[in-house]
Amino acid sequence: MIDHDGTIVYANRAWQQFGTDNNLKDGVSAGSNYLKVCAVSAAAGDRLAAEVANGIREVASGKRASFSCEYPCHSPNTRRWFIMNVTPLRCGLPFLLVISHQNITERKLMEEQIQFQALHDPMTGLSNRLHFSEVLDKEWRRALRSREPLSLVMLDIDFFKQYNDKFGHLSGDQCLIEVSHILKKFSNRADDLAARYGGEEFVLILGNTAPDAAYHIAESIRKSVYDLEIVYDDVQRITISAGVASFIPNMQLNTLRLLNEADKALYRAKREGRNRVVIGETG
Ligand code: GH3
Ligand code: MG
Ligand code: MG
Repeated sequence: MIDHDGTIVYANRAWQQFGTDNNLKDGVSAGSNYLKVCAVSAAAGDRLAAEVANGIREVASGKRASFSCEYPCHSPNTRRWFIMNVTPLRCGLPFLLVISHQNITERKLMEEQIQFQALHDPMTGLSNRLHFSEVLDKEWRRALRSREPLSLVMLDIDFFKQYNDKFGHLSGDQCLIEVSHILKKFSNRADDLAARYGGEEFVLILGNTAPDAAYHIAESIRKSVYDLEIVYDDVQRITISAGVASFIPNMQLNTLRLLNEADKALYRAKREGRNRVVIGETG
């Protein structure tokens, strides 16, 4: 509990224990000033501390009825989050504010997990189509601003129906997982994203990547899949075909065009015999 000026008038055992556990020197026990502690942190660049101090002052002045904020408080070995609530103590004078901190780590971890599941394919762990679309739009806008090339590779496993028909869907799934490992390996820069576009179709966003570099990445993926040597009859083995498109975005172009050009190149790769990379429209 703090008074109008931020001086702590009472701190329960749990808060004092939290202070001890986290080496907090001030703002833990009665007599120290909570707002001053926030001010020191805010001056050191802690934006959250500034926000908290402002929230407390607004509740103290009656400008708002209550204030709450969720904040990370990670220790070296554990990730933790808390929610802080500030409410006036409504039982007469003197005017006091109650500040409570509640551990919400379990909820936060669950939210993280749900968010991951909403954006990823459960079988391969790659991004799903929704995440792909969001990232493609974002990367397009970024490339438009920075006038950098944005490349897209669309890949499809060759004759995959035959493989499924011969070995069953579980083997087919295993094959998709192995291909996805290769895609992850070739998309580990910050501006890259590998996604499962549909059944046995994948896409690769390559930010700030020129057409020839994108072609080389696609070609490395094609070769790596070939080298997996997943054989499905005496001579045939699992291969992929890929189409590459690349543009420096401008207002006359859009992501749909990029997708269409990669798709057209992929189908040329299929028509021209599969197990190959075709570079489509660039500009
Ligand atoms: P193409 O070279 O022209 O691409 O021939 P394809 O046989 O690969 O293409 P088609 O579209 O005829 O068949 C795709 C197959 O992919 C059919 C479907 O059973 C299989 N497939 C799609 N999703 C999955 C999946 O999640 N698991 C498994 N095991 N198979 C899948
Ligand atoms: Mg296929
Ligand atoms: Mg397909």
